[in-house]
Amino acid sequence: MKVMKFGGTSVGKPERMQQVKELITRHNTPTLVVLSALSGTTNSLVEISQSLANGDKAEAEQRIELLESHYRQFLLSLLHQPATLEKANLVVSEHFEFLLIILRISFSEALNKDILAQGELLSTKLFSLYLEEQGVDHVLIPALEFMSIDQHEEPQLSLISQKLTRILQSYPDKTLFITQGYICRNARGEVDNLKRGGSDYTASLIAAAVHATVCEIWTDIDGMHNNDPRIVNKTIPIEQLSFDEAAELAYFGAKILHPTCIWPAQQENVPVKLLNTMQPDAAGTVIMKEAGSTGVKAVAAKDGITAIKIKSSRMLLAYGFLRKIFEVFEKYKTSIDMITTSEVAVSVTIDNNQFLKEIVQELQPFGTVEVEENQTIISIVGNEIAQTDQVLEKLFSAIRSVPVTMVSYGGSPHNISLLVPAAEKKTTLQALNTGLFGL
Ligand code: ADP
Ligand code: ASP
Ligand code: MG
Repeated sequence: MKVMKFGGTSVGKPERMQQVKELITRHNTPTLVVLSALSGTTNSLVEISQSLANGDKAEAEQRIELLESHYRQFLLSLLHQPATLEKANLVVSEHFEFLLIILRISFSEALNKDILAQGELLSTKLFSLYLEEQGVDHVLIPALEFMSIDQHEEPQLSLISQKLTRILQSYPDKTLFITQGYICRNARGEVDNLKRGGSDYTASLIAAAVHATVCEIWTDIDGMHNNDPRIVNKTIPIEQLSFDEAAELAYFGAKILHPTCIWPAQQENVPVKLLNTMQPDAAGTVIMKEAGSTGVKAVAAKDGITAIKIKSSRMLLAYGFLRKIFEVFEKYKTSIDMITTSEVAVSVTIDNNQFLKEIVQELQPFGTVEVEENQTIISIVGNEIAQTDQVLEKLFSAIRSVPVTMVSYGGSPHNISLLVPAAEKKTTLQALNTGLFGL
């Protein structure tokens, strides 16, 4: 079985969807296709939800109507037979009526998740109707019947595997399955999701669950590039990455992959391929156990970081000091990304400010606490990076003029991280592109 995931831009236009059909029927291998919502839909649903949360029902209604007309137009170019067109219009009516009913209910977090789920439900149903019209035999399997997260919002891989295997076994003669990315059920049985960009995570979880031969992530670019193509002018695709390298890049901001989507594929050793729907024959990037080569492969940036520095003259020789500090973060379920220490101070970074005030308050008994918001982590990722090719020398000479706040090196052989003020992100990424890659 192979898994093929198509992101928002890959299904965002009728002609793209038609091309997805070509790609999934090119080979005769049993295939499970994971689809995102049409590009822009989840953003619109987030906005609708926000309008409702703000109590602005008129604005929400206007946004719902705008989105509905986009879908009505979409159908007209996608489908041509009156019977399928009629079914598709009914699907659209059903989902938009649901959204309009929600307008009358008082807003809650559970309702928000229901709203956000509409995108993937719509895209898969419409794609399934298109396949039906084209005479492509397939089964649409609802992700809500097998994709689940526990009370800590962690996917339950073995349960997912059991349920999905059972579902697939109930269709012994079928070889093509379609399902929704992103959406799942939570520990309370409610509709939930795997966070923004979560369809990659769905694909990797499914690939692990069914022991797929490959997990293909089809998107709008020819693989993982050496730097953020949205920010830096000249970037190039990377041929091969190890699971560890890819996980670091995804976690530290390479938007092409969901931050935590690598571990399921890594756990079951399923290779992940990043491929371009617009250039299906381009090599793309393969992510597997082996790194393929040593040295720096890419840099990525993660925004919205807060640095917290705890200075204490009592820290020196005081065993147990770090534990007490970490306990504060644990209490508030706030994970630490970077950490550096000196004799008299510890600096950490967090990407979630929800409990910042409480954390600072509880850290104060340990020493002076300084907080710096609006920081960006720049990660330099590769294999045995520091041992090769004078990387440290090139790195520090490239960023000579950048006011670096923290440096983390040695935690893993795959990563060197720098913390810089957010305003320095672009300059830093550009300087590293020239200094490390000669681009
Ligand atoms: P999809 O909708 O298919 O999930 P995404 O928008 O989530 O696609 O991810 C693809 C985008 O990721 C690319 O268009 C590109 O702008 C962005 N991106 C950011 N960093 C990188 C990188 N290092 N390599 C490739 N793409 C990247
Ligand atoms: N549709 C969801 C999002 O936009 C999930 C995904 O596309 O991966 O975040
Ligand atoms: Mg994505």
